[in-house]
Amino acid sequence: MDKVLGTLNGTQYTVGDSLLELSYLVAALLFVVGLKMLSHPESARRGNLYAFGGMALAMLTTLLLHRDDNGSNISLTNIWIILAAIGVGSAIGWIIARKVKMTAMPQLVSLYNATGGAASALVALLEYPKALTGDVGSILVTVLGLIIGAVAFSGSMIAYGKLDGKVGDVMKPFMTYINLLLLVLTLGLGVYITVSPNPPDEMIWAIYALFAISLVYGVMFVLPIGGADMPVVISLLNSFTGIAAAMAGFIYNNMAMILGGILVGAAGMILTLLMCKAMNRSLINVIIGAFGGGVSAAGGEQGNIREIALSDAAVLMSYSQKIVIIPGYGLAVAQAQHITQELDELLEKKGVDVKYAIHPVAGRMPGHMNVLLAEADVPYEKLVEMDDINPDMPNVDVAIVVGANDVVNPAAYNDPGSPIYGMPIIDAHLAKNIIIMKRGMGKGYAGIENELFFNEKTRMLFGDAKSSIQKLVTEIKTM
Ligand code: NDP
Repeated sequence: MDKVLGTLNGTQYTVGDSLLELSYLVAALLFVVGLKMLSHPESARRGNLYAFGGMALAMLTTLLLHRDDNGSNISLTNIWIILAAIGVGSAIGWIIARKVKMTAMPQLVSLYNATGGAASALVALLEYPKALTGDVGSILVTVLGLIIGAVAFSGSMIAYGKLDGKVGDVMKPFMTYINLLLLVLTLGLGVYITVSPNPPDEMIWAIYALFAISLVYGVMFVLPIGGADMPVVISLLNSFTGIAAAMAGFIYNNMAMILGGILVGAAGMILTLLMCKAMNRSLINVIIGAFGGGVSAAGGEQGNIREIALSDAAVLMSYSQKIVIIPGYGLAVAQAQHITQELDELLEKKGVDVKYAIHPVAGRMPGHMNVLLAEADVPYEKLVEMDDINPDMPNVDVAIVVGANDVVNPAAYNDPGSPIYGMPIIDAHLAKNIIIMKRGMGKGYAGIENELFFNEKTRMLFGDAKSSIQKLVTEIKTM
């Protein structure tokens, strides 16, 4: 391993160094293939394993083959400390991942984002004395790693608090100006540190001040962002975590960290932009728009609510030709995915064509409905994306809305005062009949009234989604 292969820019390269770089290349390939496989539910599990394999390989070869500036490998004592830290982190992660409820996944993702951001910011804090003795490039990546990592950390903690209902929305109009000021301060200090000729020990105050201001900016940046925009923010913070990790990779000149970070950063940014597109909003509008959690201009009650008896619902469904099930957050809360699949199978046996309409932000995380329905073995070809199913909605005999609310709210089309105005929705209101299953008149995530409940084609089937569908299945079986 120590055999010298050659010298480049004054540095000697050994067999071990080459193997290390090669392992990083293989790891990067596994990340890319894994990421690609994540884009389809059928291959997503394997994709995750591929990416995990890449990360495990990069970690193992780094432990065994990495050499510091003096040419020494990682000492045995340090390897034990690293392994102990990995052990503790993995144990905590494993326990949390096993215990977390499907409905609390976004909170978990936020916490993971926070830890990633914190790790990158800490790397930058620890390594800044070395960077300040280097060229402008190494100072710049350290400063960027510190800012982006700190913003990702504090912003993600606030996002976690909001999703968990521990932190409310703060939508003061002047917050935009405070945030602008904080942003200018952060960037100004960052530029000062990068170009200042002062020796490292005279810059300690500036580095810690930058860390503190970035943390405050992260908090203030997320605080005014409203309920229904949270998925976009989480995805954006995820992208920040990736970019911060890439900066940490530049600090250590570690190819696996750089590539992994860039992939997470790019994937997060693409998802962010796609979600903005799904909500018909621009990213800037999401960040400074202080949207969501507001009250619809229409507000209040909008007519009469009509209920449907179980037996009537069973008859209507059994004698339909085309049914579209529109799942939402309530399906996840009720854990109604398995019984929904049973209802679907039962109806198909009676010759009914059953499809599922999937809204990109239904539930509480991207792909939430796909994951739940895949868990219940619903064939993927039955899950139809919003844009593909909407043109067919007028031909649908019954739209069955299971615990969805905001994603079928026509206020998105016709109420300019509504916080969800402009967000594309599933056109349940165009179906010939609409059955809505929910427990009561509870509002959805955006906290607004839904005129679909008052539509004359709508019949409400009140109750927990799982027990309502269970009763429906029993009823249909006796027909
Ligand atoms: P909503 O949050 O709009 O509505 C869910 C509805 O489910 C509620 O109105 C509630 O009414 C009902 N419900 C709750 N529990 C049950 C139960 N046990 N049985 C039956 N119904 C139940 O959900 P949607 O999926 O329509 O919309 C998602 C919202 O979440 C959007 O505003 C989106 O922007 C936001 N969001 C999405 C994220 C994502 O990435 N997908 C992440 C974070 C937020 P009731 O209390 O009367 O039963």
